[in-house]
Amino acid sequence: MDDLLLIQLPAFQPHYKRWKKYGYKNPKEKENLQKVLWESTGGYCMYCYSRVLVDRKLFGNLEHAIEKSNSKKLTECIPNIGLACSICNQSFKRRAEHVRKLPEDVLTEYETNSRCTLEKRKQCTVPCKALKKVRRCYSQLPGAQIILQPMGVNGWDSGEPLALQFDVLSMCFQPAVSGHSYSEQEIQYIEEHIRRFHLNDPKYRTKSLFEFVKQVIDHHGILSNYEYNNWLVEQFAKMLSDRSQEEALKLCEAIYCSTFLKFGN
Ligand SMILES: [Zn+2]
Ligand SMILES: [Zn+2]
Repeated sequence: MDDLLLIQLPAFQPHYKRWKKYGYKNPKEKENLQKVLWESTGGYCMYCYSRVLVDRKLFGNLEHAIEKSNSKKLTECIPNIGLACSICNQSFKRRAEHVRKLPEDVLTEYETNSRCTLEKRKQCTVPCKALKKVRRCYSQLPGAQIILQPMGVNGWDSGEPLALQFDVLSMCFQPAVSGHSYSEQEIQYIEEHIRRFHLNDPKYRTKSLFEFVKQVIDHHGILSNYEYNNWLVEQFAKMLSDRSQEEALKLCEAIYCSTFLKFGN
């Protein structure tokens, strides 16, 4: 199969700068954090890949991977904070939040061993051991099958990063089984993540790639460059730009035919 037809979704890895201060409550530090996060995604939501940076304005929210209600220390813990659109942040991610409460002893251990302090505000941009441990525990809780961002979650069986792929011909998100050897439980975890963020839900799933493909056909294989509405389109356009105009047109026609029934009306 053409490798253009299967898009691998990344775990987002922000490049924090040592000389910059990041934080959640302080406005200047918050601005720095927002910037480093949208730079790592290109301006898209880390969970549904929709654009959150529109015409230089940020519409996304800072999103605490492990909810800050669990521990005050998590509020300012930089590697615990990602970037999400308001729907993922305030609605989809919150589902079952009350069920996935971390046990008291796990929290105490985290608060004792965590290297971030609230008082002296030592900068933590690399996840400390305590955070890694609490993240592992969190992922095993009921209702917590979420590929936390930034940096993602590693599978407990395969040891590989749990990831998604996007099948262009069916316009569907799937567990990234090509190139990974996930266990049955890991696959279920990823599938639950896909359901949680309604990635394949007819009401919410992205239509941007379909629109883009249609445009390429209308322009006889020439790619237009503008602010795409979804990370997938940017990635697809990048891959397509290596092809000739004729090849691009042929490929887009094939995609259009196989997805027309899903999106064409
Ligand atoms: Zn989103
Ligand atoms: Zn920390």
